[in-house]
Amino acid sequence: MTRSEHIRALLEEYARQRAADEADLQARTDAACARVPEIAALKQQNAELALSAMRGILTGQSAEQRRALADDMKRRGRENNARIRALLAGAGLPEDQLEPRYRCDRCRDTGYVGEAPARFCDCFETRLRLRQHEDGSMAGLDEQNFDTFDPARIPEADGQREQLLAVRAMCEDYANRFPEAGFENLLLTGEGGLGKTFLLNCIFERVTSRGYPAIRVTAFRMFETMRRQHVGSEPDFNGFSELIEAPLLLIDDLGTEPMMRNITVEYLFTLLNERLAAGRHTVVATNLTPVQIKERYGERVASRLLDRTRCRCVQLKGKDLRSL
Ligand SMILES: [Zn+2]
Repeated sequence: MTRSEHIRALLEEYARQRAADEADLQARTDAACARVPEIAALKQQNAELALSAMRGILTGQSAEQRRALADDMKRRGRENNARIRALLAGAGLPEDQLEPRYRCDRCRDTGYVGEAPARFCDCFETRLRLRQHEDGSMAGLDEQNFDTFDPARIPEADGQREQLLAVRAMCEDYANRFPEAGFENLLLTGEGGLGKTFLLNCIFERVTSRGYPAIRVTAFRMFETMRRQHVGSEPDFNGFSELIEAPLLLIDDLGTEPMMRNITVEYLFTLLNERLAAGRHTVVATNLTPVQIKERYGERVASRLLDRTRCRCVQLKGKDLRSL
């Protein structure tokens, strides 16, 4: 695929995401209104306030009257909203129950930021890069293996080179001994640009060149597979079972996938749990800290990902290698 084809496909993904955001907001609004009917009445009042203010403008009242009307509308709207927040709290619902929840707050899932000319949001650029990596259309991916690992590029300061060399040796050992590495799962954490994806690609390359089947996915692609499985409109689709059954599964950038109700956490739990139960190996790279993993996915998923008896967890530290 060319870059512009990737961009077009990605923009479609963003459009689907916005539709999902809207459906999610509608579902949360419906749930709140069903639980607290007064909220529905207040929201209805807000809508009528906005409408009557607009009518005031259209029917050509004086500027003074229009301003008074607008001020009055704002005041009553604020009062209504304060009342709605109190009702939400009283019902034990989160304060943002009636607000849109975006995967990316910066671009509100549009993929664009800024006024015209708008540019792509960082989240869009990141995913574009991942897409291009995944289909191999970005040069250099085949060069990511243990033999091309160049320690000279890594700063010596603060032990960064020493740490990365140790982690590289551990990863290479894991890949060489797979599936008898002594531990099944590997979790690579740390900020962006510390070499996690590179190490993941190295492991993939070594294990597959030793003849073992492995699947390497970005978290976003994994999520898409889960979503398609969940929607269930493709009877022959077995992408999710493939993820469960791969002898080695490598998940890159966990945490960048959308959080969708009934999908992300539930399917991730099923995936990890089934793989652990069957003794299959999983390697995960993520920018999330263990604490953030717990916050994002909850205790059940975190306990599978961070299980010390089955998983080696490495936290990479240092300077962003891409900016050097
Ligand atoms: Zn964004």
